[in-house]
This record gives sequence, structure tokens and C-alpha cells, in this order.
Amino acid sequence: LPEGETKFFMAEIVLKDVCKVFEKDQYAVSNFSLRIRDGEFIVFVGPSGCGKSTTLRMIAGLEDITSGELWIGDRLCNYADPGERDLSMVFQNYALYPQMSVYDNMAFALSVRKVPKKEIRQRVETTAEMLGISHLLSRRPSALSGGQKQRVAIGSAILRKPKAFLMDEPLSNLDAKLRTHMRVELAALHHKLGTTTIYVTHDQTEAMTLADRIVVMKAGYIQQVATPVELYNRPTNMFVAGFIGSPAMSFLRGKVRRAGDGAAFLTEAGQVFPLTAAQAKVLWPQYDNRALVLGIRPEDLYAAPARTGRLYGKMQGMITACESLGHEAILHLETEDGEFAARVEPGHGAAVDQPATLYLDMANAHFFDGEAEQNIF
Ligand code: ATP
Repeated sequence: LPEGETKFFMAEIVLKDVCKVFEKDQYAVSNFSLRIRDGEFIVFVGPSGCGKSTTLRMIAGLEDITSGELWIGDRLCNYADPGERDLSMVFQNYALYPQMSVYDNMAFALSVRKVPKKEIRQRVETTAEMLGISHLLSRRPSALSGGQKQRVAIGSAILRKPKAFLMDEPLSNLDAKLRTHMRVELAALHHKLGTTTIYVTHDQTEAMTLADRIVVMKAGYIQQVATPVELYNRPTNMFVAGFIGSPAMSFLRGKVRRAGDGAAFLTEAGQVFPLTAAQAKVLWPQYDNRALVLGIRPEDLYAAPARTGRLYGKMQGMITACESLGHEAILHLETEDGEFAARVEPGHGAAVDQPATLYLDMANAHFFDGEAEQNIF
């Protein structure tokens, strides 16, 4: 192989049908298959207990793989020692040695590997400078803030120049402001170093902003692997649709009906939404008499049918709460079809306990099979 291709091949991480069983027949992770490209930033998301950390720990070698294959580069690594895998892990609790200085913490992995002292000094200093922690090198971890500790932990990981970084909720112990700041720094760092990164979080903003591709998991199974934009625009099922986006997508159950030359969606409570020609083509008559679900994102609702030439569906409800965020407001409404949320501009004039009418831009409506819960449009 030419040099460039060898490098590409070397840093790929491939999981094939990886399973993890902790107790008899209890699958924590089932048939996990994924090819992580060299330099890619992959984020695992999903609710608590869905198997994100277990998958990461299997890649790191901290947890045995029950069945399936883990390839790092051209090597089958199911049974490789964690140290041999050449991966750096960054944990939520930083994992620093309390009795050592920041310098020694950062230098530790290199000293163990007998890297010459002069080179260690140079690498620690360069990395400390990049992370803005040069002035902290002589301190003990106990004299650092949470954000500083996290930078030291990241610095130690970077210094080793591993094939990949594995990060398990690295920012979750930081306060909201610092968390946002470190998130931006991590993105910049990845841009600069280009090291393959596998990152576990349950924070969807982190997932959406950091990931090249997101892996959404539920109960040990991968639900969808896609870029943030694809996940948002084309969620494969109701679970992913409800998980990505904040406030979450609302779902209205109903059926499709003929309406004039086209078709319409009729909710259980009798609200009618006209379908675009493209939607009608997919749903009518194929879904006649079948349970359907209309998915509505809060940002696709408007206080007025603003743009001409667009098809709008009208929704009515009682406002139960109104959260003003300054640049926008989030209305929570109750209808006979259930609750839904709408993102509107400030100065909308809506008030709690008042009725409101909102308009859904039908071109942005999502439709799901009411039984299989799969996306159909
Ligand atoms: P969280 O977001 O809460 O960290 P997670 O998605 O990372 O959750 P895992 O920690 O991977 O989830 O756990 C997946 C499943 O495996 C859970 O049902 C959990 O209870 C189970 N599990 C994890 N570790 C063990 C263990 N050592 N022994 C038995 N079961 C375990």
C-alpha cells in the first residue's frame, strides 16, 4: 500500500457484531457494528443504561467482549491488554494522581514508556501551553478548579499521541459555563490534532456540536448512525426523533384521509393537517386505515402562516406554560391530542391559560408508522 493508505488503514477502529453480556442472557450491548474512520469524531448518545460506557470500555479493554470482533487498525484486539491498544481514555472524574504535581501527572505515561526526559519536558510544555495550563505545572491536583483538572486530564491524554481518544462524559462535572467553554476547546483541539475520538455523553448539545457522526443507542442496540444534520432532519424512528432536538419533537396520533385532490392527516381528536403532494404520494392510499403519527418540531410552528406559497397546518391548544429565553420563547400547549411545545419569537403576546393557534409548516412535518414507529416521511 502507498504510505498514505497504510496510515488510513492503521487508525481505523472497527466493531463487528460486538455483544456484552454481564449476567446470563442480559445483553448490555447487542450486535454493535460500526466502522470509525481515521480522524473521525464519533459520539455515543442515549438514555442512561443504554450501553454507551460499556461499549467504550470494551474498546478501551477495560471490559471483556462477550462476542464479536474489535479491530484497531489491522489488528484484532478482543484480547489485547489495554496498554497495547494505544488509546487514551479521559474520564468524567479526571483520574489524576493526587500526590503528584500537574507536570508529573502529565509526564507519567511517557516516563513509564521510557521516553527521554528532555523530550518529555518539551512535550509537556508544548501541550500545557496549548491548553493554557503552563502556569499550573507545579501545583497539585487538589489546588486546581474542575475545569483546570479536566484540562490536565486531556493534556495527559494528548501527550501520549495515541491512535484514538476515548472520552466518557468528560465535561459532566463542570458548571454550565465552563462546560460550554471546554466544549468549544475540545472542538478546536480536534480540528488541530485530527485524532480519532470516541466520546460518550448524554448531552445532546455536545453530541450535535462535536460529532462528525452520532451513534444513538437504546437498550443496548444502535438505533441510528448519522451526521448531526441527518439525525435532526431524517430521524429513523420515533425514539431518535424524540431524543434529538430540544424541546423534543411532539407526536400526534391519527390517520390519513382523502381530501379533495390530495390527502390530509386527521388526528384522533379531529384536527386536520393538509399533506404536501410529496407526503400524499407516500401516505395515500398506502396508509389508509393504518395508525400514523405526525411528528412536529417546536421550531416548525409559527404564530402566523408567514410565508406565501407554503402549506400550513393549524393547531389549537391552551397555553400551560410560557418560558421566555430573551431571544425566543417556548410555549407549552395542551390539546385534545396531547401536549406539544412551540418555539416562538419574543413579543408573541401569548399568555398562560389562554387559547393559542399555531401554524405548522407542513413541508417540515415528520410521519411515522404508528405501530413499528419507523419514519415513513
Ligand atoms: P449512563 O449514561 O448511565 O452511564 P450507559 O449508557 O453508559 O449509561 P452502561 O453503563 O454501558 O450504560 O450500562 C449498560 C447496561 O449494563 C446497564 O443496564 C447496566 O446496568 C449494565 N451494567 C453495566 N456495568 C455492569 C456490571 N459491571 N455488571 C452488571 N451490569 C452492568
